[in-house]
Amino acid sequence: MKDFRYRRFLTVLLSIVLVLPLINMPVYAMNGNDEGETIIVGVPADRCPIFYIDEDTGENTGIGIDLMRYAAENAGYTVEFKTIEEDTLKDALDNETYDLVMPFGSAILSASGQQILVSDNMIKTPFTLVTDSDRKMPPLGSLKVGMLSSLRGGADTVKQLYPGIEIKMFDTMSECVLELRSGEVDALLHNSYVWSYILQKPGYSDLVMQPYAMFSMDFRAGAVDTPKSREIIENLNRGIATISDTRRQAFVLDYTSRPLYHYSFSDYIYKYGLIIIFAIFLFILLIIITIQRYRGIRREQKEKMEHLIDYDLLTGVYSMTGFRKRVTEILHSNYDIPYMLVFVNIKNFKFINDSLGRNGGDDLLRFWADKTMATLSDKEAMCRIEADRFAVLRRSGGEKQLLSDEHDVIDAVRNYFINLDKENRVQICGGIYVLTPDDYINADIDKMIDYARVAEKKVHDIRSDGYEFYNPEQWEKGKHIAEVINQLPVALKAGDIQVWYQPQVDYDSGKITGAEALCRWKHNELGWLPPSGFIPILEDSGLIYNLDSYVWDKVCQDLHRWNQQGMHRYVSVNVSRCDIRDDRDLCKHFRDLIKTYDLTPDQLRIEVTESAFAEDFDLLIQTTDKLRTYGFKVEMDDFGSGYSSLHMLKEVMVDRIKLDLRFLTDAGDRKKGRIIVGYIIRMIKALGMDIITEGVETEKQAEFLRGKGGSEMQGYYFFKPMPAEEFEKIKSFEPKRNES
Ligand code: C2E
Ligand code: MG
Ligand code: MG
Repeated sequence: MKDFRYRRFLTVLLSIVLVLPLINMPVYAMNGNDEGETIIVGVPADRCPIFYIDEDTGENTGIGIDLMRYAAENAGYTVEFKTIEEDTLKDALDNETYDLVMPFGSAILSASGQQILVSDNMIKTPFTLVTDSDRKMPPLGSLKVGMLSSLRGGADTVKQLYPGIEIKMFDTMSECVLELRSGEVDALLHNSYVWSYILQKPGYSDLVMQPYAMFSMDFRAGAVDTPKSREIIENLNRGIATISDTRRQAFVLDYTSRPLYHYSFSDYIYKYGLIIIFAIFLFILLIIITIQRYRGIRREQKEKMEHLIDYDLLTGVYSMTGFRKRVTEILHSNYDIPYMLVFVNIKNFKFINDSLGRNGGDDLLRFWADKTMATLSDKEAMCRIEADRFAVLRRSGGEKQLLSDEHDVIDAVRNYFINLDKENRVQICGGIYVLTPDDYINADIDKMIDYARVAEKKVHDIRSDGYEFYNPEQWEKGKHIAEVINQLPVALKAGDIQVWYQPQVDYDSGKITGAEALCRWKHNELGWLPPSGFIPILEDSGLIYNLDSYVWDKVCQDLHRWNQQGMHRYVSVNVSRCDIRDDRDLCKHFRDLIKTYDLTPDQLRIEVTESAFAEDFDLLIQTTDKLRTYGFKVEMDDFGSGYSSLHMLKEVMVDRIKLDLRFLTDAGDRKKGRIIVGYIIRMIKALGMDIITEGVETEKQAEFLRGKGGSEMQGYYFFKPMPAEEFEKIKSFEPKRNES
């Protein structure tokens, strides 16, 4: 690097020493041309640094121009240079506009075949080889050289001087370089002055100029042989004779030491590619960071705005807007949780504000919010509607929870000032609205708050403190539901849920053909609960499978015991539509059971209620088909309860239809009911299924059914559901002939 700088410094110094004095001192050899006649010289413009156009002045310039101008001016001419438009110099010779054309190495014929005259040589231009830096050059005798097709004259000279060299011509320098790199040629040959320019291109930085010249070409001006051209050339030759070697070197040095090459876009990319890519990358990164930052700020602002909208500034609990959103979310994702909406208000808040100041009132509100929030879970919410009015969505946990809320929150708020040694007791009025299943779907928060507000008003108007329910019956129902749900696991463990059997009878023979297992709950506080009091609740809360699987297990235990006692009995068990809908693997469950208790599959008759078929027809058919292939008997329960469709009977194959007499004969035209029952029995039999009629309460009904061919029956006329021990003792049905 140091060496390079040093050389460059020397070159520039030499240029100054040699060129400057000479440029300012033209030597005029006045040879009878003292009028300063102007001659027009045609020159190429694409051979920098010999001939090219100066970008600043737009004029022809270069080593060749300076030499010619010097020689011509010393010959007494004024020179005007014109860029030749013709394709070749030969063509330009035929153009009479030019007095002279250059450069020529020797005399040639013009394109139209005219003899030309050439001037004396102005300078010897050395031709040197350029190679790829990686490649070793073969001996000259077998060298393949690439040249520009515009240098045909030079190529002829090479062939004469080095007959062993193979020459390939290309139209452009980039083609030449491509061929060199691909190994098609071993080296490129060109005028070394031009190389000094070309090799400034960054993309050619791997090319190396060989230090020796292969030959030198003359550099002359020429013209078609005419008397006038003969005179000009003779005069010019005198001017050429005045060019000293020092001056020639000065002209060459002036141009070859200058960085004349102008970078194109691709050169910049080549040279500064990595830097440019890095800069673009940095730029893009900067833009991304800026956008992210901007978005972050926007998001933050939006969140702040939302926070301002959704939350109450004073207490930090939800505002009405935030509460609406949150409660809707909670209700939509917690259908199984019983909720109540509580509206609370301080009756004497105005008085508190007046006597203890606004700050005292604010402190109380904050205290209240904090106390309540401490008792809430993430599935509950609280908001400040305005001033001293709050609303709370609270899980409905029965009387116990009401008491604990009263103690933990309400009492603490009531005594807030008393605990601060002030006399004011806070009077709190509350209204409670217990949510109905509909509220989970519609989630009309304002309506719920309004209802709770109505209840609060009742307290507010007539009492100083306390709370009221808007819908007490819903509260009772909710309490019952909560009790059932909470008590079920305890009841199952404690054996409070029992399995009773209702015998099924063949009325013709009086034989017991089977029984239906029906559960009974002996509740600690509520006494005997009928299934209708807890089964729908368990179905809604997703707990029915726990109960059913418990019942099925008990039934199998009993069947096993009876088998061992030599009584091979058959029991129908109820399967809830939820057990099927929730895709419990019933087949596996029942198969495991009969394996565990060593039963035959036909001992278990599986009752699926008719309404279940209307719910998910395909899933039910799949389940029943599978159960039947494993040998279980499948029965369609409650046939006639309202969903029956003939299409269903056509598509579903079950072993037995359980016709519920109550649905057809309880109300309406009993005569028609009987006709329908008669035909149903015939139809079911014709379809190849068995039929049993349940809900038979009188002998008359039993006789009627027998008359229609349906002698299998179940009902209070025969037996009511009974505990297992009683059922074990029953061997047959004895008709009570005196009953009507
Ligand atoms: P279901 O399966 O149709 O059972 C027959 C119901 O009719 C029983 O009511 C039975 O006591 C009653 N019953 C029988 N004969 C007569 C009669 O002559 N007159 C009148 N009025 N009623 C009669 P229960 O035991 O109250 O059961 C009601 C429903 O609860 C059952 O209807 C069944 O759908 C369901 N259930 C009972 N136990 C279970 C169980 O363990 N699991 C499931 N998933 N459901 C059960
Ligand atoms: Mg049943
Ligand atoms: Mg039934």
